[in-house]
Amino acid sequence: MAVTIAGDRVLWPEQTPSRGWIRVVDGVITEVGEGRPDDPMAVTVEVITPGFIDIHCHGGGRGEFTSADDEQIERAIATHRRHGTTTMNASLVSATYDDLERQIRALIPHVDDGSLHGIHLEGPWISEHYCGAHDPKTLRAPDPDEVARILEVGEGRIAMVTIAPELPGAVDSIRRIVAAGSVAAVGHTAADADSTRAAIDAGATVATHLFNAMPPLLHRAAGPVGALLADDRVSPEIICDGIHVEPDVVDLALAAAEGRGVLITDAMAAAGAADGDYRIGNLDVQVRDGAARLASNGALAGSTLTMDKAVRRTVTLAGRSLASAAKAATATPAAVLGLDDRGSVAVGQRADLVLLDDDLEVERVMRGGDWVIRPH
Ligand SMILES: [Zn+2]
Repeated sequence: MAVTIAGDRVLWPEQTPSRGWIRVVDGVITEVGEGRPDDPMAVTVEVITPGFIDIHCHGGGRGEFTSADDEQIERAIATHRRHGTTTMNASLVSATYDDLERQIRALIPHVDDGSLHGIHLEGPWISEHYCGAHDPKTLRAPDPDEVARILEVGEGRIAMVTIAPELPGAVDSIRRIVAAGSVAAVGHTAADADSTRAAIDAGATVATHLFNAMPPLLHRAAGPVGALLADDRVSPEIICDGIHVEPDVVDLALAAAEGRGVLITDAMAAAGAADGDYRIGNLDVQVRDGAARLASNGALAGSTLTMDKAVRRTVTLAGRSLASAAKAATATPAAVLGLDDRGSVAVGQRADLVLLDDDLEVERVMRGGDWVIRPH
């Protein structure tokens, strides 16, 4: 299949967005150009960005990645895909070893068929003091043998693991995670700046939802936020839904971490679905006006974002440029995951594209050259 797509604003890599066109043949971008294309059959649209890459997502469309149920897993993936996410991790919350093993095994076929990039373990090796929507009964210190066993169950499909650096065994475990080819992330932590830096020196390269589930940045106590934000080796995840982090703080963080910040959804099952009563892992969650909170204590329990909404709110609420917001949803997460075949509008890249209107609402999505939402 060959198609030409033309846009008023194409989000080129490292360049101001401008009018241009993209030629796609057999799932790959084979040609790009500025101005208008020769092809009279070209699909035209206002804005073209690379496909969104979500490295932290728990579900959507009423489907949960913890469910170990193919139908729910596929529904969650399909929901986010319609909103422009063409590459994603499936995140799992803290659970017993047996539950995690079962959940990982259920996700593996969806990694192997290319629907998911990989699996993200957000626990159980996190702080009881900053556990957010994780069941405190399942939390434990990262025993390096258990870490190794779980990585073995994943057989290379565990793409990212979140760890609290202050827990006994954390630094050794981070080394093991990185040696296994996975990304180590710092999060759900009570660590001070020094133990956060030790985790980064051991190979941690991501901050799990910076600001949320960790002590704040103070001017005489940088804490994990300061240590993670200041270090060029770290990509901080940001949840920009207007609820988790105040928009001015999103702006400050993305400016401080220009080219490193990553927009995530941290979405739970209500993303792309209605308000109502849900679960995350074993805990009851109430979703009201798009805010997901634990029924027990009101703690935020993930978001109802999709990536298009995250990009839109980063522009409209946090005041970032579209180029900056889109980069944090495409090229930067591609680099975090070590993917060099996607994340940019450039020749040779996989044809993952999101076509947006002037209000940055999704019109069409192309994944690997196939339309997810077909042209009307
Ligand atoms: Zn999460």
